[in-house]
Order: sequence, then C-alpha cells, then structure tokens
Amino acid sequence: MRVRVVLLDMDGVVWLAHREIPGSSEAVEILRASGAIVGFVTNNSFSTRDDHVGHLAAMGIEAGAHLYTSAMAASMVVPAGARVFLCGGRGLAQELERVGAEVILAHENRGVEHVDSVVVGLHLEMDYGTVSDAARLVRNGARFIASNADPVYPTPDGPVPGGGAVVAAIQTASGIAPLVTGKPHRTMVDLVVGSLGRLDTGDVWFVGDRADTDGGFAAALGCRFAHVLSGTDIEGNPTADLVARDLAAVADHLVGGNR
Ligand SMILES: [Mg+2]
Repeated sequence: MRVRVVLLDMDGVVWLAHREIPGSSEAVEILRASGAIVGFVTNNSFSTRDDHVGHLAAMGIEAGAHLYTSAMAASMVVPAGARVFLCGGRGLAQELERVGAEVILAHENRGVEHVDSVVVGLHLEMDYGTVSDAARLVRNGARFIASNADPVYPTPDGPVPGGGAVVAAIQTASGIAPLVTGKPHRTMVDLVVGSLGRLDTGDVWFVGDRADTDGGFAAALGCRFAHVLSGTDIEGNPTADLVARDLAAVADHLVGGNR
C-alpha cells in the first residue's frame, strides 16, 4: 500500500539534542519523493516553532506545513485573556501569547496571586521557589496544564530530565494532577487531526522512539506505529507495527521497495 502520511517525532527520531541521527534527512527526502506528506509532532514545548524550523533546516530538512508541538496543544486549552503562570520555556510563552493569554514567567515573578492557569513544561529555571508558587496557585484553584509528561529528554550523552520531571514536582507538592496536552493525549490528537484530517487509515504512519507517548499517540490517531531504537527506548514494543533501528531503516521499509 502506498504511504500517504508519515508523522515523525523529533527527539530521538530525527536528532538527539539537535545533532542529526545519521540518515534522517535522507529518509525524509526518500519519504517525500515517494509522494508521502511528512510532518513533525513533538512534545518539546521548550523550543519555538521557528527554533524547530531552524534546527531542521540546519540538517537540510524543510519543515514544511505540518509541524505540531505540545506548546501549540497547551495553548489550545487556554482562552484569550487568561492570566497564566508559566513554568516553561520560550516555545510555550510564544504559543500562549499567540492565543492572547497574559504570560507571567514563574522565575521572574515570585509570590504571584490570582491566576487562571498554571502551565508547565520543561523549565530550566525551575527551583524551589517556582515549584512552591506553582503548587500554591494550583491548590488555590488555578487550572493545572502540562504540555507533556515525558520523564526524560534524550541527548547524545544519555537522558536528562524532561518536562514530566518538572510537572511531577508540582503535582507532588499540590496533590493535584494536570491536564496533559501533548502526546499521547487528546488535545494533541485534536491539533493534528484538525490540521491533516482523518488519520485512522492503514496508509498513515507515526514514527517515534517512545512506546508510551508515541505508540500511545499512534493508537489514539488510529494509524500505524513504527518504533525506532535511536532514542529513549532500547527495546522495541511488541505491539508496534514495525520496529527499526532508526528513521533511515523505517523509510527503507516503507518505500524502499518502490524505488
Ligand atoms: Mg522522542
């Protein structure tokens, strides 16, 4: 069957901390040359859309029209005019401002009162004071929104704490669980399906390095899942439709026979 759409997770699939996983740029070219739409779906809410486009361009990959981040998903559940306490990076700040929210940066504003939402992602300035303020605001009734719950972020030197580690600190201190908007959750499904239309057909593939977030997201979309071992997971999930060393091997499997 011809492949119609291939959606790629980025960290651990295309790159490790923006260092290309060998063969990924060629794999994207091969998939596009076959006629497939190639898009990108990342739980990374720290980088802005422009950052992602720039990092892809540095590897010779054109981002194209289909780039979706968990920061975009988080901004979908925040109404215009909302006062948001943000424990997160530039990507989240930019998407929240795009929808008309008032963004209060946690690490620059201590002792804040009366916010509508606490939005959390990877937050490099996280410290005891930011966790303390965020937990207090959530306990006092602010809506707790997490862009993602990924425990780690894969780098060439091994995993480092991800957005989920920041979320866990605030969740533990507040005793309240967040609405998570990134993969594999509903808001991200709505974002991607709202843009690309139905994806629950056999000619759509999702390629990811995490069985929980990426495999779960493919299941939520109703598409096929290719599990690559170039990132966080070192063993293939038995429920994946394809387990492969890396994206180059996936491209070869999906369209290699047609070349
Ligand atoms: Mg990944």
